[in-house]
Amino acid sequence: MTSASRQSVKVIRKDPKSWTVAPNFTDYEALQREFSWDAMRRELQGLPEGGGINIAHEAVDRHASGDLRDRAALRWFGAEGEVLEFTYADMKRESDRFANILQRLGAGKGSVVCTLADRIPDLYFTALGTWKNTSVFCPLFSHFGPEPIHQRMSKGDAAILLTTTSAYKRKVAGIMDRLPMLRWVLLTDAAEDLDAKTLSLPRLKEEAPEAFQIPPTDPEDVATLHFTSGSTGAPKGMIHVHDAVVAHYATGKYVLDLRPGDVFWCTADPGWVTGVSYGIIAPLLHGSINIVDQGEFDAERWCGLLESQKVNVWYTSPTAVRRLMRLGERPRLYFDFRTLRCVHSVGEPLHAEEVLWSVDALGLPIHDNWWQTETGAIMIANFPAMDIRVGSMGRPAPGVEAAIVRRVEGGGVEVIEEPDAPGEIALRAGWPSMARGCIHEEERYKKDFAGGWRLTGDAARRDADGYFWFIGRLDDVIKSAGRMVGPFEVEGALMEHPAVFEAGVIGKPDPLLGESVKAFIALKPGVEASEELRSEILGFARKRLGPSMAPREIEFQTDLPKNRAGKIMRRLLKARELGLPEGDVSTLEPPVQGKRGAP
Ligand code: ATP
Ligand code: MG
Repeated sequence: MTSASRQSVKVIRKDPKSWTVAPNFTDYEALQREFSWDAMRRELQGLPEGGGINIAHEAVDRHASGDLRDRAALRWFGAEGEVLEFTYADMKRESDRFANILQRLGAGKGSVVCTLADRIPDLYFTALGTWKNTSVFCPLFSHFGPEPIHQRMSKGDAAILLTTTSAYKRKVAGIMDRLPMLRWVLLTDAAEDLDAKTLSLPRLKEEAPEAFQIPPTDPEDVATLHFTSGSTGAPKGMIHVHDAVVAHYATGKYVLDLRPGDVFWCTADPGWVTGVSYGIIAPLLHGSINIVDQGEFDAERWCGLLESQKVNVWYTSPTAVRRLMRLGERPRLYFDFRTLRCVHSVGEPLHAEEVLWSVDALGLPIHDNWWQTETGAIMIANFPAMDIRVGSMGRPAPGVEAAIVRRVEGGGVEVIEEPDAPGEIALRAGWPSMARGCIHEEERYKKDFAGGWRLTGDAARRDADGYFWFIGRLDDVIKSAGRMVGPFEVEGALMEHPAVFEAGVIGKPDPLLGESVKAFIALKPGVEASEELRSEILGFARKRLGPSMAPREIEFQTDLPKNRAGKIMRRLLKARELGLPEGDVSTLEPPVQGKRGAP
């Protein structure tokens, strides 16, 4: 980070007088001092008679036998306009039924249950029912084709797959002979069984008893298998346990600021970890109303949902925010967002540009937070009560110790105390939602631990007040003329140019500099690429960043390659640039055809 850009840090101050409801905490230091995971655990109920802790009991059953029993838990908006609402009692009944189905099919503790469906209610009942049965929930992103599906199901030893008839016929039937571990396929929409192995879920439901007794669940029992997004290589299958629910609860309370009766909407798909930890578990833990939209992004529909549902807390992604920005209009001129208390974002760097846009266009700032599939829950965040240093990821979540470290020879790490010095983000190992393993890749899991820390592969710096600033993935950090150049900072500066919609920055081998900075840029709708514009943007970047950080080269592209989770795949930009093999592209989003300019 240059000293010039550091001086220009903008701060969004929080004014307690403007709060309609005070956030769940207001004094960060006091919270950090007083916080303990055990105290959080005590706010949950646990299974009766010392039976341990089970995610589904905490999320649903606990409320279904209490005051929230008849209150809305899940409000579902179908792609065709249907609306369904399920109370906590309904959620209990439906997930009990699914747990009974699993039992009848011989699936028990540790059996892996995959789902391949878009955001339909059965997906949510399946997740909860699977946890109840102490089986392992493994969601697959519904847009995956046969190969990514096969890769994950075989790596995960899937025993059961829940899907729709059409997805089964198009994507699964052809790979069945390569999935010897798979015992049953359950079709959510088939009135009758297709064959002896491919069963009708509605029929099974009709026959299944409505009540299920959750067996004792050890906090260390495996609950979920989450595959990473595959941004840096082949996706890893991260193993998570039931105790993770303690971290979902704590971050739901202190970061998202959830409370009973809140209307909460997480736009992430349950195919990714955010869509499970916060799209299923956290809102239910807090007795909130969880909004689920089956449809894909549509700016008008999304703004309409925020308004009509009177959403209080919204959790979305930088990709979605940029798509809204593309409209060129301030949504709050047309929609009423007055019930919105907090907006949060995760998944990719959130640039200063986007935070400032939201203050103007939505009427409140977006709170960036940082975490990974491996961490299971939010680790670093901008909290509702805390001033926002625009462009920063915020400070560690309660109970999380984060540091900037350098790997040293022999496998150790050295903590970098000096403020603003770049290094790798490390987390003190041992928080409840930390992945307990990487399926069938123990070495890949172990290599991220050193000296009691878990190394994250992300580069950042920490300022003197403890705020973390993202630099880039370690693999993406550019070493140019003896210094580290963070793609995030370069991309952020480029995005300040009015013609730039999105930027992806890589390092290219250079005989003099080691690496030189190259930027790939997608322009805003209606802007034509030209040589003049290229020189103008190069000059603009040089002025902002100085000659050592500014790109030497710019290439215009219609759309930057992104993975299905919406993340720019810089490693692919680099491989293509250098003519190297593209590596694992199972999560690559197919290019958007003819949609240029549409949000
Ligand atoms: P893979 O591990 O397979 O390469 P991935 O890292 O993209 O894929 P995820 O676990 O889904 O898989 O994503 C976590 C990563 O996303 C983080 O390590 C970080 O690089 C990026 N990320 C998440 N949130 C933020 C954020 N707020 N700011 C910057 N980067 C973020
Ligand atoms: Mg990763």
